Amino acid sequence: MINELLKYQEVDGQLREIEKELGKSEERKKAVEAKKYLDTVEESVNKLDARAGELLLAYENVLKEKEQLEEQKDEFKKALEGIEDEAGANYLIKRVDKLMDKIKSATATLKKIMEEFNAIAKGYVQIKNKTKDAQEQYRENGQKYNEFKASFKDRQDKIKGELEQIKKKISPELMEKYQRKRENKMFPILYEVGDGICGRCNMEISLSEVNKLKNGEVIECQCGCLLYKN
Ligand SMILES: [Zn+2]
Repeated sequence: MINELLKYQEVDGQLREIEKELGKSEERKKAVEAKKYLDTVEESVNKLDARAGELLLAYENVLKEKEQLEEQKDEFKKALEGIEDEAGANYLIKRVDKLMDKIKSATATLKKIMEEFNAIAKGYVQIKNKTKDAQEQYRENGQKYNEFKASFKDRQDKIKGELEQIKKKISPELMEKYQRKRENKMFPILYEVGDGICGRCNMEISLSEVNKLKNGEVIECQCGCLLYKN
């Protein structure tokens, strides 16, 4: 069984070379990068929407407040026209001054809110443009990558067919262990034990395990690889 598994790994290595080749593709990298951006667009837009909603509410409130202050100011001014005594007039003038300060501050707040609104509007435009670019990048590179990938298809199918044949001679448990490691990007997966140490991590193998190896078993090292002894 060990020889079959070794044969499997050897053929599987060809499949891995193709995967490596595909992984190096610039088109794939660009498509993945574009996809990553596109995946964040909705969240970014939602954030802007939420902030715009908050700002709108704040704007309406400050505007209402400012209108009320203006009304009060007008009332005091009217009252001031008819007043005769100096103390009363001074009192009203002070009140009007205070109201004018508050109105000024409300006006500044409204201006600030408008500025942030404008920034958000720019943000929407930026997202829109970048989304268009990313969609284009994704489409173009995705297409090129798919063509590149397709050029390996025949070879991959042939190798997979070979692997299927070899697999028949290997126990499913062992095959499952191998596949799990393969999915976790380990390669090679099988290492030979020489002088009682793992060929991958150089860790010493216990005697009981060395005996198992001698019986032709495949064991799992602490480093994760599969060990065998010829
Ligand atoms: Zn090891």
